[in-house]
Amino acid sequence: KAKQEGRNRYCFFSEELGQRMLQRHQQEQHLRSAIEHNRLEVYFQPKVALGSGNVVGAEALVRIRSEDGNIISPAEFIPLAEETGLIVPLGKVVLIKSCQQAALWKNAGSILPVSVNIAAAQFTDPGLMGLIEQLLMECQLSPDLLELEVTETALIQDPERTAEILKKFRALGIRIAIDDFGTGYSSLSYLKRFKVDVLKIDMSFVKDMLQDKSDYEIVKTIISLGQSMNIELIAEGIETAAHQASLQELGCLYGQGYYYSKPLPPEQFIQYLQVGKH
Ligand code: C2E
Ligand code: MG
Ligand code: MG
Ligand code: MG
Repeated sequence: KAKQEGRNRYCFFSEELGQRMLQRHQQEQHLRSAIEHNRLEVYFQPKVALGSGNVVGAEALVRIRSEDGNIISPAEFIPLAEETGLIVPLGKVVLIKSCQQAALWKNAGSILPVSVNIAAAQFTDPGLMGLIEQLLMECQLSPDLLELEVTETALIQDPERTAEILKKFRALGIRIAIDDFGTGYSSLSYLKRFKVDVLKIDMSFVKDMLQDKSDYEIVKTIISLGQSMNIELIAEGIETAAHQASLQELGCLYGQGYYYSKPLPPEQFIQYLQVGKH
């Protein structure tokens, strides 16, 4: 009997595992097909100067337009894209579309840098540098109109290599931002080692900074760190006027968040540029 139970149990687990593998395989096929059939869309969220509310740039955020017309958010497919390596072709599409938009804004009279999220596997991909150089040339963009957002976790995976890649990008004049700053391994020594242009204060600290004393202190500390190291600061996840006022008082110059605008499809972003929020 025990043997039979054991076997049933074995079957149960293997079935569940089989189900999961099948589901994962289907998700991977969906993702692959979205990339191949041009169903990736890039939205843009304004980055603003906290003092004036002027738009100073935009972050490119990818979505999938599913076959039934629904928008799928990156939280649902970026992790799988990273695991399967599909992040490299996906990221290429995002870079192309982002540079094309920046060229369009420029031609419409708004010279704005575009920030693109770069996953670890893209960052260390030997093809990235060439792709970017080619895109900047084709779109006639100066390198300081492109900013790469990389997470701390991606940076520390291979520190030697990271330092080298960062040096090359910065030599080209491309800006580098550390995304979600404060949530990874925020060692001060690597800030010294990896020269970057921008720290993005993670929204998890911003969210409760007005209620939670330790979040407030973390935000304050990141801001003074940036100031003393001469690194630009931008706060993510600004949702209220009170967030903005407090960050501004602490000396943070830039921000992005729903208080200003959600990420917008390209046409709406251009409207936002023309009309502004207020
Ligand atoms: P992230 O780079 O940290 O982007 C910020 C996320 O916060 C975006 O979510 C944005 O819509 C959201 N957000 C902005 N302001 C607010 C706010 O005031 N309140 C709240 N609650 N959320 C706000 P989204 O677009 O869903 O992207 C999630 C993450 O997916 C990104 O986090 C990034 O890590 C990843 N991602 C998005 N697009 C790409 C891409 O093209 N390539 C790669 N590698 N990752 C991407
Ligand atoms: Mg980002
Ligand atoms: Mg972030
Ligand atoms: Mg994030």
